[in-house]
Amino acid sequence: MAYNVTFIPGDGIGPEVAEAAKRVLEATGIDFHWDVVNAGADAMDKYGTPLPESVLESIRKNKVALKGPITTPVGSGFRSVNVALRKELDLYACVRPCKTYPGVPSFYSGVDIIVVRENTEDLYAGIEFERGTPEAAALIKLVRETKRGVISEDSGLSLKMISETGSRRIVKFAFEYARAYRRKKVTALHKANIMKFSDGLFLAVAREVAREYHDIEFEDRIIDNMTMQLVKRPQQFDIIVAPNLYGDIVSDLCAGLVGGLGVAPGANIGDEIAVFEPTHGSAPKYTGQNKANPMAMMLSGVMMLRYLGETGAADNLELAIANVIAEGKNVTYDMKQDYTAGVGTPQVANAVIEKMGA
Ligand code: NAD
Repeated sequence: MAYNVTFIPGDGIGPEVAEAAKRVLEATGIDFHWDVVNAGADAMDKYGTPLPESVLESIRKNKVALKGPITTPVGSGFRSVNVALRKELDLYACVRPCKTYPGVPSFYSGVDIIVVRENTEDLYAGIEFERGTPEAAALIKLVRETKRGVISEDSGLSLKMISETGSRRIVKFAFEYARAYRRKKVTALHKANIMKFSDGLFLAVAREVAREYHDIEFEDRIIDNMTMQLVKRPQQFDIIVAPNLYGDIVSDLCAGLVGGLGVAPGANIGDEIAVFEPTHGSAPKYTGQNKANPMAMMLSGVMMLRYLGETGAADNLELAIANVIAEGKNVTYDMKQDYTAGVGTPQVANAVIEKMGA
Protein backbone atom coordinates (compact mmCIF):
# COMPACT_ATOMS: atom_id res chain seq x y z
CA MET A 1 0.00 0.00 0.00
CA ALA A 2 1.26 3.48 -0.88
CA TYR A 3 0.74 6.46 1.41
CA ASN A 4 -0.30 9.79 -0.09
CA VAL A 5 1.73 12.45 1.71
CA THR A 6 1.82 16.19 1.07
CA PHE A 7 5.46 17.22 0.72
CA ILE A 8 6.39 20.86 1.37
CA PRO A 9 10.12 21.40 0.81
CA GLY A 10 10.05 24.88 2.43
CA ASP A 11 12.78 27.46 1.82
CA GLY A 12 16.29 28.30 3.05
CA ILE A 13 17.86 24.96 4.01
CA GLY A 14 14.38 23.38 3.76
CA PRO A 15 14.66 21.82 0.29
CA GLU A 16 18.08 20.32 1.11
CA VAL A 17 17.04 18.65 4.37
CA ALA A 18 13.61 17.69 3.00
CA GLU A 19 15.18 15.91 0.02
CA ALA A 20 17.53 14.00 2.34
CA ALA A 21 14.57 12.94 4.53
CA LYS A 22 12.55 11.89 1.48
CA ARG A 23 15.40 9.68 0.27
CA VAL A 24 15.82 7.85 3.59
CA LEU A 25 12.05 7.39 3.95
CA GLU A 26 11.89 5.83 0.50
CA ALA A 27 14.81 3.57 1.43
CA THR A 28 12.74 2.05 4.26
CA GLY A 29 10.79 0.18 1.58
CA ILE A 30 7.51 1.91 2.39
CA ASP A 31 5.74 3.31 -0.70
CA PHE A 32 4.93 7.01 -0.76
CA HIS A 33 3.11 9.12 -3.32
CA TRP A 34 4.49 12.58 -2.63
CA ASP A 35 2.18 15.45 -3.45
CA VAL A 36 4.76 18.22 -3.79
CA VAL A 37 3.43 21.74 -3.05
CA ASN A 38 5.14 25.02 -2.28
CA ALA A 39 4.53 27.51 0.49
CA GLY A 40 6.58 30.48 1.69
CA ALA A 41 8.58 33.02 -0.30
CA ASP A 42 8.43 31.08 -3.61
CA ALA A 43 4.66 30.74 -3.40
CA MET A 44 4.42 34.45 -2.55
CA ASP A 45 6.23 35.34 -5.81
CA LYS A 46 4.13 32.91 -7.85
CA TYR A 47 0.65 33.12 -6.33
CA GLY A 48 0.73 36.36 -4.33
CA THR A 49 0.24 34.48 -1.05
CA PRO A 50 2.74 32.50 1.03
CA LEU A 51 0.08 29.89 1.81
CA PRO A 52 -1.96 29.10 -1.33
CA GLU A 53 -5.30 27.34 -0.86
CA SER A 54 -3.94 24.42 -2.92
CA VAL A 55 -1.46 23.64 -0.11
CA LEU A 56 -4.26 23.46 2.47
CA GLU A 57 -6.40 21.40 0.07
CA SER A 58 -3.59 18.90 -0.45
CA ILE A 59 -3.04 18.47 3.31
CA ARG A 60 -6.79 18.19 3.98
CA LYS A 61 -7.00 15.48 1.31
CA ASN A 62 -3.92 13.47 2.32
CA LYS A 63 -4.24 14.09 6.08
CA VAL A 64 -0.47 13.74 6.48
CA ALA A 65 2.29 16.16 5.45
CA LEU A 66 6.06 16.32 5.69
CA LYS A 67 7.25 19.90 5.76
CA GLY A 68 10.58 21.70 5.60
CA PRO A 69 11.09 24.99 7.46
CA ILE A 70 9.69 28.21 6.01
CA THR A 71 11.13 31.69 6.58
CA THR A 72 9.01 34.36 8.21
CA PRO A 73 10.62 37.58 6.95
CA VAL A 74 10.77 40.25 9.67
CA GLY A 75 8.61 43.28 8.87
CA SER A 76 7.51 41.98 5.44
CA GLY A 77 3.82 42.03 6.26
CA PHE A 78 3.27 38.33 5.72
CA ARG A 79 2.45 36.43 8.84
CA SER A 80 4.12 33.15 9.62
CA VAL A 81 3.04 30.36 7.26
CA ASN A 82 3.86 27.94 10.07
CA VAL A 83 1.44 29.61 12.48
CA ALA A 84 -1.22 29.96 9.75
CA LEU A 85 -1.00 26.25 8.88
CA ARG A 86 -1.50 25.24 12.50
CA LYS A 87 -4.47 27.58 12.80
CA GLU A 88 -6.15 26.72 9.49
CA LEU A 89 -5.90 22.98 10.10
CA ASP A 90 -6.49 23.18 13.87
CA LEU A 91 -3.27 21.33 14.62
CA TYR A 92 -3.57 21.95 18.32
CA ALA A 93 -0.79 19.68 19.59
CA CYS A 94 2.86 20.33 18.92
CA VAL A 95 4.86 17.21 19.76
CA ARG A 96 8.62 17.46 20.14
CA PRO A 97 10.62 14.42 21.23
CA CYS A 98 14.03 15.21 22.76
CA LYS A 99 16.24 12.17 23.10
CA THR A 100 20.00 11.80 23.58
CA TYR A 101 21.49 9.47 20.99
CA PRO A 102 24.94 8.22 22.02
CA GLY A 103 27.54 10.34 20.24
CA VAL A 104 25.59 13.61 20.06
CA PRO A 105 27.39 16.69 21.36
CA SER A 106 25.65 17.01 24.74
CA PHE A 107 26.45 17.31 28.45
CA TYR A 108 23.76 14.72 29.16
CA SER A 109 22.93 11.10 28.49
CA GLY A 110 19.76 9.11 29.07
CA VAL A 111 17.38 11.98 28.26
CA ASP A 112 14.13 10.90 26.59
CA ILE A 113 11.48 13.60 26.89
CA ILE A 114 8.42 14.32 24.76
CA VAL A 115 7.24 17.93 24.94
CA VAL A 116 3.54 18.31 24.12
CA ARG A 117 2.81 21.97 23.57
CA GLU A 118 -0.62 23.54 23.13
CA ASN A 119 -0.57 25.27 19.76
CA THR A 120 -3.59 27.56 19.53
CA GLU A 121 -4.08 29.71 22.64
CA ASP A 122 -2.15 31.65 25.28
CA LEU A 123 -0.01 34.78 24.83
CA TYR A 124 1.36 33.16 21.69
CA ALA A 125 -1.94 33.38 19.80
CA GLY A 126 -1.06 36.97 18.96
CA ILE A 127 -4.08 38.97 20.14
CA GLU A 128 -2.34 42.26 20.82
CA PHE A 129 -3.09 45.94 21.30
CA GLU A 130 -0.48 48.43 20.15
CA ARG A 131 0.61 51.21 22.51
CA GLY A 132 -1.31 54.43 21.95
CA THR A 133 -4.20 52.94 19.91
CA PRO A 134 -7.86 53.57 20.86
CA GLU A 135 -8.29 49.79 21.43
CA ALA A 136 -5.40 49.73 23.90
CA ALA A 137 -6.81 52.80 25.65
CA ALA A 138 -10.26 51.14 25.90
CA LEU A 139 -8.80 48.02 27.47
CA ILE A 140 -6.70 50.04 29.90
CA LYS A 141 -9.82 51.97 30.87
CA LEU A 142 -11.81 48.75 31.38
CA VAL A 143 -9.11 47.36 33.68
CA ARG A 144 -9.12 50.57 35.71
CA GLU A 145 -12.93 50.76 35.90
CA THR A 146 -13.29 47.13 36.99
CA LYS A 147 -10.67 47.77 39.68
CA ARG A 148 -8.38 45.02 38.41
CA GLY A 149 -5.36 47.30 38.61
CA VAL A 150 -3.75 50.28 36.94
CA ILE A 151 -2.01 49.90 33.60
CA SER A 152 0.30 52.65 32.44
CA GLU A 153 -1.25 54.63 29.51
CA ASP A 154 1.84 54.04 27.35
CA SER A 155 1.59 50.23 27.52
CA GLY A 156 1.27 47.75 24.69
CA LEU A 157 -0.89 44.76 25.63
CA SER A 158 -0.84 41.05 24.71
CA LEU A 159 -3.71 38.83 25.83
CA LYS A 160 -3.15 35.53 27.56
CA MET A 161 -6.18 33.30 26.93
CA ILE A 162 -6.38 29.76 28.25
CA SER A 163 -9.69 27.93 27.85
CA GLU A 164 -11.09 24.87 29.52
CA THR A 165 -11.70 23.27 26.10
CA GLY A 166 -8.17 23.98 24.85
CA SER A 167 -6.62 22.73 28.09
CA ARG A 168 -8.70 19.57 28.17
CA ARG A 169 -7.91 18.51 24.63
CA ILE A 170 -4.14 19.07 24.95
CA VAL A 171 -3.87 17.29 28.30
CA LYS A 172 -5.97 14.40 26.99
CA PHE A 173 -3.72 14.29 23.93
CA ALA A 174 -0.65 14.02 26.20
CA PHE A 175 -2.17 11.15 28.20
CA GLU A 176 -3.34 9.32 25.07
CA TYR A 177 0.16 9.76 23.61
CA ALA A 178 1.60 8.35 26.83
CA ARG A 179 -0.61 5.28 26.52
CA ALA A 180 0.05 4.76 22.83
CA TYR A 181 3.83 4.99 23.26
CA ARG A 182 3.95 3.21 26.65
CA ARG A 183 5.26 6.20 28.57
CA LYS A 184 4.92 6.34 32.34
CA LYS A 185 4.49 9.93 33.47
CA VAL A 186 2.97 13.26 32.42
CA THR A 187 4.23 16.54 33.94
CA ALA A 188 2.07 19.65 33.48
CA LEU A 189 3.76 23.09 33.44
CA HIS A 190 2.18 26.29 34.72
CA LYS A 191 2.55 29.39 36.84
CA ALA A 192 -0.82 28.89 38.56
CA ASN A 193 0.37 30.48 41.80
CA ILE A 194 0.42 33.87 40.02
CA MET A 195 -1.89 33.52 36.99
CA LYS A 196 -4.81 31.89 38.75
CA PHE A 197 -7.46 32.34 36.06
CA SER A 198 -5.39 31.21 33.04
CA ASP A 199 -2.64 28.85 34.24
CA GLY A 200 -4.80 28.00 37.25
CA LEU A 201 -7.54 26.80 34.90
CA PHE A 202 -5.02 24.79 32.88
CA LEU A 203 -3.78 23.07 36.05
CA ALA A 204 -7.26 22.36 37.40
CA VAL A 205 -8.29 20.77 34.09
CA ALA A 206 -5.01 18.80 33.92
CA ARG A 207 -5.64 17.37 37.40
CA GLU A 208 -9.19 16.43 36.41
CA VAL A 209 -8.08 14.70 33.19
CA ALA A 210 -5.26 12.90 35.04
CA ARG A 211 -7.86 11.17 37.23
CA GLU A 212 -9.12 9.32 34.10
CA TYR A 213 -5.69 7.74 33.53
CA HIS A 214 -4.83 5.60 36.57
CA ASP A 215 -2.11 3.77 34.65
CA ILE A 216 -0.04 6.94 34.10
CA GLU A 217 1.62 9.00 36.81
CA PHE A 218 0.82 12.72 36.90
CA GLU A 219 2.66 15.62 38.46
CA ASP A 220 2.84 19.37 37.92
CA ARG A 221 5.67 21.88 38.09
CA ILE A 222 5.83 25.66 38.24
CA ILE A 223 7.61 26.77 35.08
CA ASP A 224 10.59 28.56 36.66
CA ASN A 225 11.36 25.60 38.91
CA MET A 226 10.93 23.31 35.90
CA THR A 227 13.60 25.06 33.82
CA MET A 228 16.07 24.63 36.69
CA GLN A 229 15.17 20.96 37.16
CA LEU A 230 15.42 20.28 33.44
CA VAL A 231 18.98 21.57 33.41
CA LYS A 232 19.90 19.76 36.64
CA ARG A 233 18.33 16.34 36.10
CA PRO A 234 16.38 16.02 32.83
CA GLN A 235 16.30 12.21 33.08
CA GLN A 236 13.48 12.43 35.66
CA PHE A 237 10.99 13.70 33.04
CA ASP A 238 8.99 11.69 30.52
CA ILE A 239 6.09 13.55 28.83
CA ILE A 240 5.72 17.27 29.48
CA VAL A 241 2.45 19.04 28.67
CA ALA A 242 2.40 22.81 28.57
CA PRO A 243 0.44 25.84 27.41
CA ASN A 244 1.74 27.47 24.23
CA LEU A 245 4.42 29.89 25.43
CA TYR A 246 6.02 27.71 28.12
CA GLY A 247 5.91 24.81 25.65
CA ASP A 248 7.70 26.89 23.03
CA ILE A 249 10.52 27.84 25.38
CA VAL A 250 10.86 24.47 27.08
CA SER A 251 10.98 22.58 23.78
CA ASP A 252 14.00 24.62 22.66
CA LEU A 253 15.58 24.12 26.07
CA CYS A 254 15.05 20.36 25.72
CA ALA A 255 16.48 20.40 22.17
CA GLY A 256 19.57 22.03 23.67
CA LEU A 257 19.86 19.19 26.21
CA VAL A 258 20.04 16.54 23.52
CA GLY A 259 22.44 18.01 20.97
CA GLY A 260 20.69 21.02 19.46
CA LEU A 261 18.27 21.85 16.69
CA GLY A 262 20.00 19.59 14.18
CA VAL A 263 18.52 16.52 15.91
CA ALA A 264 15.20 17.90 17.20
CA PRO A 265 12.18 16.58 15.27
CA GLY A 266 8.56 17.65 15.63
CA ALA A 267 4.97 17.30 14.57
CA ASN A 268 1.84 19.43 14.68
CA ILE A 269 -1.15 17.21 15.16
CA GLY A 270 -4.91 17.70 15.17
CA ASP A 271 -7.78 15.23 15.46
CA GLU A 272 -7.46 14.09 11.83
CA ILE A 273 -4.42 15.77 10.31
CA ALA A 274 -0.71 15.72 11.14
CA VAL A 275 2.14 17.83 9.75
CA PHE A 276 5.64 16.60 10.52
CA GLU A 277 8.47 19.13 10.56
CA PRO A 278 11.76 19.73 12.37
CA THR A 279 11.88 22.18 15.28
CA HIS A 280 14.51 24.29 13.53
CA GLY A 281 13.90 27.12 11.10
CA SER A 282 15.20 27.79 7.60
CA ALA A 283 18.71 28.90 8.72
CA PRO A 284 18.92 31.30 5.73
CA LYS A 285 22.65 31.87 6.04
CA TYR A 286 23.30 28.22 5.10
CA THR A 287 20.96 28.11 2.08
CA GLY A 288 22.35 26.21 -0.89
CA GLN A 289 25.53 25.17 0.91
CA ASN A 290 24.42 21.59 1.57
CA LYS A 291 25.88 21.67 5.05
CA ALA A 292 22.68 21.67 7.15
CA ASN A 293 21.98 18.68 9.35
CA PRO A 294 19.08 16.67 7.87
CA MET A 295 18.65 14.47 10.97
CA ALA A 296 15.90 16.55 12.61
CA MET A 297 13.94 16.32 9.36
CA MET A 298 14.68 12.58 9.06
CA LEU A 299 13.58 12.01 12.67
CA SER A 300 10.37 13.92 11.88
CA GLY A 301 9.98 11.30 9.14
CA VAL A 302 10.44 8.59 11.78
CA MET A 303 7.59 10.18 13.76
CA MET A 304 5.48 10.18 10.60
CA LEU A 305 6.13 6.46 10.05
CA ARG A 306 5.02 5.72 13.62
CA TYR A 307 1.90 7.85 13.15
CA LEU A 308 1.10 5.83 10.02
CA GLY A 309 1.51 2.61 12.02
CA GLU A 310 4.72 1.62 10.20
CA THR A 311 6.55 0.77 13.42
CA GLY A 312 9.08 -1.62 11.87
CA ALA A 313 10.21 0.90 9.25
CA ALA A 314 10.32 3.63 11.91
CA ASP A 315 12.51 1.53 14.22
CA ASN A 316 14.78 0.63 11.33
CA LEU A 317 15.26 4.22 10.21
CA GLU A 318 15.75 5.53 13.74
CA LEU A 319 18.37 2.86 14.44
CA ALA A 320 20.22 3.71 11.21
CA ILE A 321 20.29 7.41 12.16
CA ALA A 322 21.45 6.51 15.69
CA ASN A 323 24.23 4.35 14.24
CA VAL A 324 25.45 7.15 11.96
CA ILE A 325 25.48 9.52 14.97
CA ALA A 326 27.33 6.98 17.14
CA GLU A 327 29.95 6.41 14.44
CA GLY A 328 30.47 10.18 14.18
CA LYS A 329 32.03 10.01 10.70
CA ASN A 330 29.22 10.96 8.32
CA VAL A 331 27.71 13.79 10.33
CA THR A 332 27.39 17.52 9.65
CA TYR A 333 29.47 20.28 11.27
CA ASP A 334 27.09 20.82 14.20
CA MET A 335 27.56 17.22 15.38
CA LYS A 336 31.34 17.35 15.40
CA GLN A 337 32.76 17.53 18.92
CA ASP A 338 36.13 18.74 17.56
CA TYR A 339 34.68 21.57 15.40
CA THR A 340 35.86 19.97 12.16
CA ALA A 341 33.86 20.65 9.00
CA GLY A 342 31.63 17.58 8.83
CA VAL A 343 30.12 16.07 5.68
CA GLY A 344 27.40 17.53 3.44
CA THR A 345 23.64 16.98 3.76
CA PRO A 346 23.36 14.33 0.98
CA GLN A 347 26.30 12.35 2.44
CA VAL A 348 24.42 12.00 5.72
CA ALA A 349 21.47 10.55 3.79
CA ASN A 350 23.81 8.16 1.93
CA ALA A 351 25.27 6.95 5.24
CA VAL A 352 21.82 6.41 6.79
CA ILE A 353 20.63 4.48 3.72
CA GLU A 354 23.76 2.34 3.82
CA LYS A 355 23.14 1.52 7.51
CA MET A 356 19.57 0.49 6.76
CA GLY A 357 20.76 -1.89 4.09
CA ALA A 358 23.41 -3.43 6.37
P1 NAD B 1 16.93 28.60 12.73
O1 NAD B 1 16.50 27.35 13.41
O2 NAD B 1 16.68 28.68 11.28
O3 NAD B 1 18.50 28.79 12.94
C1 NAD B 1 19.12 29.00 14.18
C2 NAD B 1 20.57 28.48 14.10
O4 NAD B 1 20.49 27.06 14.31
C3 NAD B 1 21.20 28.65 12.72
O5 NAD B 1 22.01 29.75 12.63
C4 NAD B 1 22.01 27.39 12.56
O6 NAD B 1 23.30 27.62 13.10
C5 NAD B 1 21.36 26.38 13.43
N1 NAD B 1 20.59 25.40 12.68
C6 NAD B 1 19.26 25.37 12.48
N2 NAD B 1 18.92 24.30 11.78
C7 NAD B 1 20.06 23.63 11.52
C8 NAD B 1 20.35 22.43 10.83
N3 NAD B 1 19.41 21.66 10.26
N4 NAD B 1 21.65 22.04 10.73
C9 NAD B 1 22.62 22.76 11.30
N5 NAD B 1 22.41 23.91 11.97
C10 NAD B 1 21.14 24.33 12.09
O7 NAD B 1 16.27 29.81 13.53
P2 NAD B 1 16.16 31.35 13.17
O8 NAD B 1 17.46 31.81 12.60
O9 NAD B 1 15.61 31.97 14.37
O10 NAD B 1 15.06 31.40 12.04
C11 NAD B 1 15.31 31.51 10.64
C12 NAD B 1 13.99 31.56 9.91
O11 NAD B 1 13.26 30.33 10.09
C13 NAD B 1 13.05 32.67 10.43
O12 NAD B 1 12.45 33.28 9.34
C14 NAD B 1 12.03 31.93 11.27
O13 NAD B 1 10.80 32.58 11.29
C15 NAD B 1 11.93 30.62 10.51
N6 NAD B 1 11.46 29.50 11.34
C16 NAD B 1 10.65 28.61 10.74
C17 NAD B 1 10.21 27.51 11.45
C18 NAD B 1 9.30 26.53 10.76
O14 NAD B 1 9.24 26.51 9.53
N7 NAD B 1 8.58 25.71 11.48
C19 NAD B 1 10.63 27.29 12.76
C20 NAD B 1 11.51 28.20 13.34
C21 NAD B 1 11.92 29.32 12.61
